[in-house]
Amino acid sequence: MIGGGPAGYTAALYAARANLEPLVIEGFNWGGQLMITSDVENYPGYADGIMGPAMMQDFRRQAERFGTTFVTDDVTRVDFSQRPFRVWVGDDEYRADSVIVATGAHARQLGLESEQLLQGRGVSYCATCDAAFFRDKVVVVVGGGDSAFEEALFISRFASKVYLVHRREEFRASQIMVDRALANEKIELVLNKVVTEVVGGAKVEALRLEDTVSGEESTLEADGLFVAIGHDPNTALFLDQLDHEPDSGYLVTRPGSTATNVPGVFAAGDVQDHVYRQAVTAAGSGCAAALDAERWLSEQRHAALSVAAAG
Ligand code: NAP
Repeated sequence: MIGGGPAGYTAALYAARANLEPLVIEGFNWGGQLMITSDVENYPGYADGIMGPAMMQDFRRQAERFGTTFVTDDVTRVDFSQRPFRVWVGDDEYRADSVIVATGAHARQLGLESEQLLQGRGVSYCATCDAAFFRDKVVVVVGGGDSAFEEALFISRFASKVYLVHRREEFRASQIMVDRALANEKIELVLNKVVTEVVGGAKVEALRLEDTVSGEESTLEADGLFVAIGHDPNTALFLDQLDHEPDSGYLVTRPGSTATNVPGVFAAGDVQDHVYRQAVTAAGSGCAAALDAERWLSEQRHAALSVAAAG
């Protein structure tokens, strides 16, 4: 497995229990996006909710219990053109009869130069990591999806004021999240606005906003900016070898399967799913990938045995 999130660890759990001796190259920042999520209230089985990082510890421990081994580093190159497949971490080469790609997705940036300059100095993409730095401060969250609302709600535990800036009036977020934000007296919605500049030197001081309807410009004083505008798949390593959607880069799997265009290479979780993108769907898809890989490996073994018997 390449990738240590819900998909990779679940695939490893199933593969380990099928005696396939799985190796998870889990990434230096293992755990994936759950490591930057606060309360997870919608993963079945955790009736009282759980913190994202704690849940990933559980996933990893469960895979380890059945014999999964881990490399806590980033894959730098792959070669799926011959079998066994080859995967590199720097100069270290790993060979596998089957590979499950489960590298997930990462947070999108606004794309402003000033945003780059002030990263770590008030600009953040992870409320769980950074919200506590903004105790009694004024914070802006950008976005209109569940992530933005979740971040705004989490940050409101610390900050004195949270502006949720969104570029239109409709939200992608679920109604329950919107209702919670509306009921929170620290959160104020700022609609039909985009951030055009993050103002500040040593730290964030204000944001320049543009009205998406009137074009009017304004300034909002703030100590922090949390960008929560969606994700892109982590597929750069695979684009020259695996079929993917041309614009977004999400890997393409065969309908009703986790199979990619390379027999023996499977894809699971957010790296191939821009629709559901939930921990539970990623885990389910990791399970499916392990079952697909197991069947494929068994077919290969039978085919090899038949050839040997015929010879
Ligand atoms: P999302 O649903 O794709 O929402 C991204 C938001 O950012 C949209 O409102 C979008 O605006 C806005 N946006 C995108 N690019 C922008 C830009 N350049 N400038 C300004 N705004 C921009 O992403 P998400 O909130 O990360 O959620 C992803 C998936 O994870 C969803 O399925 C969500 O339900 C799920 N999720 C669930 C939970 C939970 O249940 N606890 C928590 C987090 C995420 P437009 O609407 O105008 O396009």
